[in-house]
Amino acid sequence: MVEYKAGWYGRTVIAVDRFYPSSKTGSVCGVVVAELPLHVREWECACGAVHDRDVSAAKNVLAVGLAVSACGEGVRPPRC
Ligand SMILES: [Zn+2]
Repeated sequence: MVEYKAGWYGRTVIAVDRFYPSSKTGSVCGVVVAELPLHVREWECACGAVHDRDVSAAKNVLAVGLAVSACGEGVRPPRC
């Protein structure tokens, strides 16, 4: 559904690897934490940034999508 609707508006859909650690990656410095249980909604990164789990994940997914779009970086899963 997302793909045909994107087509209506001339947009590009980029799928990000389902195992990309979007929540566990700090959206400021890029560090990946080893553990981040689901009940932890806000966390402080080693760099001092305080992240809302979902907002940080959204920023990371956007950044990865833009990287794929610009560079063809190897984070895009195979499409059928
Ligand atoms: Zn950080």
